[in-house]
Amino acid sequence: MASCACPTEHGRTAIDGYDPAARVKALEQVLVEKGYVDRAALDVIVETYAREVGPMNGAKVVARAWIDADFRTRLLEDGTAAAAELGFGGRGGEHLVIVENTPKLHNLIVCTLCSCYPWPLLGLPPVWYKSPPYRSRAVIEPRAVLRDFGVNLPETTAIRVWDSTAETRYLVLPLRPEGSEDLSEDRLASLVTREAMIGTGLALAPAVAAI
Ligand code: FE
Repeated sequence: MASCACPTEHGRTAIDGYDPAARVKALEQVLVEKGYVDRAALDVIVETYAREVGPMNGAKVVARAWIDADFRTRLLEDGTAAAAELGFGGRGGEHLVIVENTPKLHNLIVCTLCSCYPWPLLGLPPVWYKSPPYRSRAVIEPRAVLRDFGVNLPETTAIRVWDSTAETRYLVLPLRPEGSEDLSEDRLASLVTREAMIGTGLALAPAVAAI
């Protein structure tokens, strides 16, 4: 089984009776007191992920791929290099693989071990992505999981599940929605949700996004 370097406890959650927030605070206190980490540096990292790194980055990549066929080709061939063209990369994005949805194939991303995720393009993973039920059911019954997220695919659409690791992290290139032919790149990016890039959702229809 692939190794994972995520700073998590691989499956241990609040179920074991501890409050994760309190544990994080206590761990931070100890590390600061012993001089292993600098609190100001920690604040910079947290601020960066809160304000500058998030799904809006991945949405820009997707929108560019929708309007630029050459970029799309490069993105599918080497996701890391293509994302770097738009200025996105770094920790958690050293080996990005972009998987393209088609009418015949829908891609779904999971990390069965813990929570590996393409940080430079999506930011930090949502709580459900790290939950044991998602991590197991996404593999066992992906079509049912998609229904739980409100995505009902035709039986003729196959589902492929990609298991992320610390080394390789995936991003879904969703189908471009109908009715979006005349939209600007920025407007297209506004149709691309975090869920669409994980595969638990679809890109928004322009009429829905305008509401
Ligand atoms: Fe992980």
